[in-house]
Amino acid sequence: MRKGDPADLDWTAEEMRQLGHEVLERCVQHLASLREQPSRGDVGDTHAIASARHALPSDGVPLTPLLDRLFEEWIPKSFTTPGPGYFAYVPGGGLFPSALASLISETTNRFVGVWQAAPALAELEGTVLDWIRDWMQFPTSARGLLTPGSSISTLIAITAAREKLLGTEIRRGVAYVSRQTHHCVMKSARLAGIANDRVRVLPVDSQFRMCVDSLREAVRADRAKGLVPFLVISTAGSVNVGAVDDLDAVADAATELGLWHHIDAAYGGFFHVVPALRPLLSGLPRADSIALDPHKGLFLPYGTGALLVRDGGDLRAVHAADADYLPETPDSDYYDIASYGPELSRPFRGLRLWLPLMLAGSDRLRSAIAEKRELALVAHEAVRSLPHVRVLLPPCLSLFAFRVERPGCSEEENDATTRALVEGTTRRGRVMISGCGEGGRSWGRVCVLSFRSRRAEVDMLIEDLTATLSEL
Ligand SMILES: *Cc1c(COP(=O)(O)O)cnc(C)c1O
Repeated sequence: MRKGDPADLDWTAEEMRQLGHEVLERCVQHLASLREQPSRGDVGDTHAIASARHALPSDGVPLTPLLDRLFEEWIPKSFTTPGPGYFAYVPGGGLFPSALASLISETTNRFVGVWQAAPALAELEGTVLDWIRDWMQFPTSARGLLTPGSSISTLIAITAAREKLLGTEIRRGVAYVSRQTHHCVMKSARLAGIANDRVRVLPVDSQFRMCVDSLREAVRADRAKGLVPFLVISTAGSVNVGAVDDLDAVADAATELGLWHHIDAAYGGFFHVVPALRPLLSGLPRADSIALDPHKGLFLPYGTGALLVRDGGDLRAVHAADADYLPETPDSDYYDIASYGPELSRPFRGLRLWLPLMLAGSDRLRSAIAEKRELALVAHEAVRSLPHVRVLLPPCLSLFAFRVERPGCSEEENDATTRALVEGTTRRGRVMISGCGEGGRSWGRVCVLSFRSRRAEVDMLIEDLTATLSEL
């Protein structure tokens, strides 16, 4: 930026090299030291929170002290989500080449919203979606969209189903979910105009799968009241206990009842990339739409979600629009992103997937996903043999919940011990796990899905759980 020119916001080539070099060095140092960082930083540091609130200085400041504050003061005060010991919630890790892809796409800053402005780049995003479509064994008539995450994918799917099956009769429409359904589904339904009094929460069976008989009964009862059942949402990997609905049975019922079947596969969908694991998600390819989170099962950084809709025309029907100032929408099969989603100006998300996946290749990707399932089975075997520990459900994919049940202790005491086990294990600093509530009781849960979590970290998890339990 030229000193004497007060309106100049540009950087010289040499300055950009300098800034880039410094940032890259910090990022690489950060990743190279992940193993030494505590699995959960001090998120209760109110000083750090307060210091993040400040005014914009009238004069620009140098980069180095800003990076110091970020990397030393603010970033460490957080869950170490990219760390190898992160088994909490649903990890992903964040493949480094995605960050480089973001640098490229945000540096070149091409407009990918409409096809004409960057046709090859829009096509590249379409190509990535074709890979995902093929992994999910969806037909070539399907179209997809890269979104910021599954919450948004779900909102778009519900809107497409509503538009197709309800038209202007929105208020009479009814959607069906189960007790295991993620809370973002209720939120998305509301955003899509399906008020929560029109969402039926169905019971689950002993494996935490949606009761399909209850679905049939509820649809019949709603039809008898003059309502219009239109949508059932099943889950391929619930976030609480890791359950996978009987997707084939839900698909059968949806066909018979004339419902749109959407699958929330945010956590579990990418296990379908591994042919040997496809039976775990049997029925997935029969959905009308699938929400997926590449920022979970494809190990990408947060903000990378995906949606597939079986009949691409249904997605286009809610999004295609004309305006005098837009280029004419091509009627070819080129991928025109804004015709399939709500955004116009948007980041070039495709590159965040394309670059890391191209560098890794499909074989390595499949091996990594398969390994996470294997490691979850190892962790499950060890945890279920800990004294007085009960596992709720063996991992359907790579997640399981467990709880301490000591004889002679009340349920409340066992709840407290379970919570102390989760907290004490995390506090040791090598691994982080989270808890959940199920059946009115407290459970700990382990989800193995970060690409950085290997056998060594699973061993640490088992060691730290064992040691913590023995001290309680
Ligand atoms: C993560 C998750 C969601 C929400 O997805 P976001 O990408 O966080 O918006 C929904 N359902 C399930 C099962 C999930 O694991």
